[in-house]
Amino acid sequence: MMGMPLEKSPEHAAAGRIVEWADQCVQCGLCLPVCPTYALDRNEAESPRGRIAIAAALARGQADPTAELREHLDHCLGCLNCETVCPAHVQYDALLIETRALLGPSPQRPRPWLNLIKRPAWLRTLRRIGSWLALPRWQGWLARQLPMHSALRAALRIMPTMAPAARVRPCDKGTGQPHLALFPGCVASVDDAEAQQAAVTLLQAAGFRVSVLPAFCCGAMDLHGGAAQAAERAAHRVRQAWTASRATQLLSVTPGCLGTLRRALPGVNVIDPLELLAAHAGRLHFRPLAQRVAVHLPCTQINVAHSDGALLQLLRRVPGLQLSTLPRPPYCCGAAGSHLLEFPARATQLRDDTLRQAATLEPQLLLSSNIGCRLHLAAGIGELELHWPHQHPLTLLAQQLE
Ligand code: SF4
Ligand code: SF4
Repeated sequence: MMGMPLEKSPEHAAAGRIVEWADQCVQCGLCLPVCPTYALDRNEAESPRGRIAIAAALARGQADPTAELREHLDHCLGCLNCETVCPAHVQYDALLIETRALLGPSPQRPRPWLNLIKRPAWLRTLRRIGSWLALPRWQGWLARQLPMHSALRAALRIMPTMAPAARVRPCDKGTGQPHLALFPGCVASVDDAEAQQAAVTLLQAAGFRVSVLPAFCCGAMDLHGGAAQAAERAAHRVRQAWTASRATQLLSVTPGCLGTLRRALPGVNVIDPLELLAAHAGRLHFRPLAQRVAVHLPCTQINVAHSDGALLQLLRRVPGLQLSTLPRPPYCCGAAGSHLLEFPARATQLRDDTLRQAATLEPQLLLSSNIGCRLHLAAGIGELELHWPHQHPLTLLAQQLE
């Protein structure tokens, strides 16, 4: 097997940190039952404990970074279910980020697609062109002509067929009110603009003033893909935009961006707007809606944003809504940032398992807060002919606002 050189020497300070974190692991195995990739493969190297051992061996220079070892690390979804249950408080997220940075970006990374996704203006233009060319008519046919596991096929399958919503508008009335800044992000600024507008509407009704930062990528896909320099450039841009905003809190409706934004802005209160809305729920009144709704809780909403409780609390205020979360404990739908493009077959297995769970609830509507998860699940809804509409929960709440 061909060895791949480490981008930096194993003696580098990062290697020391990786070893230190890995040494905290007591190898109890409590993280194995909550790991989606271990459930897929039943292979120790596809478990958190196995990946920690691989990272430690690489950082100590005791193993070569072979294609096989790095693939076990690349398969990790970053769902952080393992970190949440770990009794030894191993900092798995930090360990994975540093190990991938040490290895450098994977050769299989679909760079052209990631470059496109990170540029909202290009993405918006492409989506408009797709809409003019009646993309829905030939999208499925074209995807089927492409190699089964190609990133292009995976990207085509998740591309929404509707023209994108208008860019989100700020609410700058009431200068005496607390001033919040909304981070639109990259894909979310195009494909979740409706949810971002819903957040502004709800926050305005709850008494807040909301400005909107320019749309750009927070760097999450680079940070988790081993592209440390690109991630740092994105973090620098986040800090500049945040400073210029003069706001008191930073918000993102995309739980997948929150961890990266917090890392870029230590000391800044970066939260999911659902938390603020739940804390001021008494100011919001909702019209009834008689509907059976399945709520998909993204891993990042549970393990990073910690806003799952706030979300359910708010939805329960809509009279008539029959709410159910997926029956199995927190898992992962397989979207996981760029994972759905890099490993489409694995991502599809996890997605279909998630949708099968949702189907047991016989929903009339599926809600999910993370745009990556929702696009991925939407493709599965189409392929499995389930015919459920899907929304960001904030969109539903804003629609029902009195
Ligand atoms: S739960 Fe924590 S300590 Fe136990 S094996 Fe997993 S990472 Fe190691
Ligand atoms: S982050 Fe998720 S996929 Fe990765 S090792 Fe932990 S539980 Fe498994």
